[in-house]
Amino acid sequence: MAGILIYSDQDKLALELLTAARLIAKDANLNVKALVINNDAQAGELASRGAEVYQICSPELFAADTAALAAALQQVIEKLDSSMVLLSSNRRGKELAGRLAQKLAAGGLSDVSGLQVSGGKIQCTRNALGGATVATQQIDTEKAVIALAARSFEAAPIQDGGKINEFVMDAVTPSVKLLQTELKAGDVADIQAADVLVVIGQGVEEDDLPIAEKIAKKLGGEIACSKPVATDKKWLPEDRIIGLSGKKCKPQLAIILGVSGQVQFTVGIRDAHTIIAVNNDENAYMLQVADYAMVSDAGQVINELNKALS
Ligand SMILES: Cc1cc2nc3c(=O)[nH]c(=O)nc-3n(C[C@H](O)[C@H](O)[C@H](O)COP(=O)(O)OP(=O)(O)OC[C@H]3O[C@@H](n4cnc5c(N)ncnc54)[C@H](O)[C@@H]3O)c2cc1C
Repeated sequence: MAGILIYSDQDKLALELLTAARLIAKDANLNVKALVINNDAQAGELASRGAEVYQICSPELFAADTAALAAALQQVIEKLDSSMVLLSSNRRGKELAGRLAQKLAAGGLSDVSGLQVSGGKIQCTRNALGGATVATQQIDTEKAVIALAARSFEAAPIQDGGKINEFVMDAVTPSVKLLQTELKAGDVADIQAADVLVVIGQGVEEDDLPIAEKIAKKLGGEIACSKPVATDKKWLPEDRIIGLSGKKCKPQLAIILGVSGQVQFTVGIRDAHTIIAVNNDENAYMLQVADYAMVSDAGQVINELNKALS
């Protein structure tokens, strides 16, 4: 039986890929295998969730060298007879998806948020027209490479039956030489992993930003923002942008202050479990998208909320 191969350099995303693969494997009559490269912890996590893991241990392979990774994946795909590859649609995953699709002469889609099987074909849903609508697209080539957006699927639960196999590959020629790795200085928050987000837009005054950050910490969450707050005002790093050109987040709670709610923003937060929005314009679209809408001054709400949480 041909199969689905999953691979991500990110541990959490690999667990989401496993869920996605299982969702379609039965209907598409495909088995599921996971590839892990130089990451014992991820191999163990996937195996503890019942996955059949193939592990490559090869120090010359690393995530930034997507050309060498694509060559390694091609070998695995051929040996394991995989007809579909699921990757994560993060920056490196997208680059890898393009390279791999080209190598395999396969159709490829990135930023996919949903998968289903119809008439034996895999159909993918993804945002289209800047997030204003959702398109359903189908890959008709024999092989398919699909990169899935983060948090589109839950992490696979713990289950029995997993095992780890060593995969011995033929040498691949590295295209990049890794000289040194360094942790990114300063802001390293992962807004996609946060359960609570306090999100500020251009309707918030700069003086209120530190208080909004305090509120986020008190609620055990992170601060995030609309694009112009990071790119134009430079109040926060671009890692904190939510939306089409930022990150797609799915927190339990999003408190959204002074954001108008343009589609390029809302596409990144509309899957939050609960949205509370504050805007002083009762016609702001953000208030329509929210579960709880408050027509009020953002600065006043920030200060009252801070007091209430003290
Ligand atoms: C290709 C493309 C990609 C884009 N990608 C992104 C993206 O990823 N993320 C993103 O955010 N944007 C993105 N944008 C920009 C997007 O279209 C909007 O311009 C942006 O989201 C607006 O940010 P904002 O709501 O903070 O600011 P504004 O549109 O200026 O809205 C400010 C809001 O604050 C309210 N307000 C003002 N004063 C107060 C107050 N005192 N109290 C309460 N409310 C107040 C106003 O009523 C208004 O609704 C993209 C645009 C394009 C063309």
